[in-house]
Amino acid sequence: MSDCLFCRIIRNEIPATRVHEDDRMVVIDDINPQAPMHVLVIPKAHIATLNDLNRDHDALLGEMTRRAAAIARERGFADRGFRTVFNTNRDAGQTVFHIHLHALAGRTLAWPPG
Ligand code: AMP
Ligand code: ZN
Repeated sequence: MSDCLFCRIIRNEIPATRVHEDDRMVVIDDINPQAPMHVLVIPKAHIATLNDLNRDHDALLGEMTRRAAAIARERGFADRGFRTVFNTNRDAGQTVFHIHLHALAGRTLAWPPG
């Protein structure tokens, strides 16, 4: 997907603050953070929404989830708590159609979400 924002960040065509990178994913700081920690775990594979997942993605999603937890732990938020979110399509407010796991921490987060 040549014009996808996150594919362009993955290819280093658009700058971003990289927190982690490996062969399967990148983690960047969100440009508009909603909490003191707000990172995005982004798979290198272009998958538009969670509706496009198949069984072949199961391991990838597990790795992304563990990576989010590892970053929260490194930053001292494991015990206090953190939130992980995938927004899917219009009602959830998805704006970038390349899946990404939000990981937020560092303040009390309301539930239910707005
Ligand atoms: P969503 O609304 O779930 O699709 O989330 C998209 C997220 O990407 C939002 O939290 C944006 O602030 C974030 N975002 C948009 N553009 C950039 C960018 N260039 N670098 C980092 N994060 C971005
Ligand atoms: Zn993409």
